[in-house]
Amino acid sequence: MTSPDARPELPAPHAIADRILGGEWDALDAATLVRYLSGEGELGDLMAAADRLRRARFGDEVHLCSIVNAKMGGCPEDCGFCAQSKHFTTHIKADKFLGHADMVAASRKAQTQGATALGLVTATRGYEDGSKGLKHMIEGIRQVRAAGHTEAHASLGIVSKEALRELRDAGMTEFNHNLESGRSYYEKIVTTHSYDDRLDTIRAAKELGLRTCVGGIFGMGEKPEHRAELAMELRGLDVDEVPINFLVSIEGTNLQHVDPLPPREMLRIIACFRLALPRQNIFIAAGRQHLGQLQPMIFAAGASGMMIGDFLTTPNRSTQDDLEMLEQLGLRGRVCATGEAPPPRPEMAPRVERRAGATHLPVLA
Ligand code: SF4
Repeated sequence: MTSPDARPELPAPHAIADRILGGEWDALDAATLVRYLSGEGELGDLMAAADRLRRARFGDEVHLCSIVNAKMGGCPEDCGFCAQSKHFTTHIKADKFLGHADMVAASRKAQTQGATALGLVTATRGYEDGSKGLKHMIEGIRQVRAAGHTEAHASLGIVSKEALRELRDAGMTEFNHNLESGRSYYEKIVTTHSYDDRLDTIRAAKELGLRTCVGGIFGMGEKPEHRAELAMELRGLDVDEVPINFLVSIEGTNLQHVDPLPPREMLRIIACFRLALPRQNIFIAAGRQHLGQLQPMIFAAGASGMMIGDFLTTPNRSTQDDLEMLEQLGLRGRVCATGEAPPPRPEMAPRVERRAGATHLPVLA
């Protein structure tokens, strides 16, 4: 007789990958995802299945991005992990906006490093329509675009659809706005704005045809259920890029005493997100250093990119080390988006071929 508590047999990760590769891109259901994230299933099996999906979708190309802070610190919001919040006393001091000439110089520098896009990130709740800060950023995007060195991306917090339209018309092609965690954990981390505030901005960007970059932070004390909740939210939104950050606890913040996740748990999260989001560009951003010697394994776990150069408030290892690692792995940088309009949502097969021979270094938050 079957126990009333008996759970269904855990689906094998390869069986899920087979279904995804057959065109059923949402084959991984939420219940199975929670079980994988909770530690059920062999990590090696999850990674092997995730790697199949990565290779089918991206081949040996990886997305590389880096970050420039166009306005640092002094943010009125209270995100518990953030060194730039004015609710906390940290090593970050509030600074003025980056000038337009410096934004253009940053895009020129990015181009010399092989970049095709520059994103501009500001520490802010967001911008009111017509505000001085918004006008400054719109003009910055216009000038970066006019200079012709790179594409212009941005991460500017909560903004209206009208503001996004102005940013788009000035030349912005992609907007970043992270959800940070699953909805039911978010309010433990942020109290000064809501999950829905963030969702409204992301949906508005999508409605305008902008590419969207939306991810989260892991290791903030959340449970597997919260991680799965985030993955399913991102699937429902059908975002383009998913930055995965691992908490780097900053002295002075609410999360200053939280220990880093173990490397194997980090790889498990990456593999699970690849299985949950097989079409998205999943790239590893802050906290990658917690993987230690296992850093090269992010790709075998299904990541299709990584952030290079320093993060907003914490250092990264050298770009040279990262590029050498890619070379040794037989991977190469790829273009994420080109031209005025965002590309159509690529399906699993055939893989969309991007422009050859160029490295994409957009700057995202
Ligand atoms: S994460 Fe963004 S909105 Fe939150 S405190 Fe930091 S800069 Fe402000």
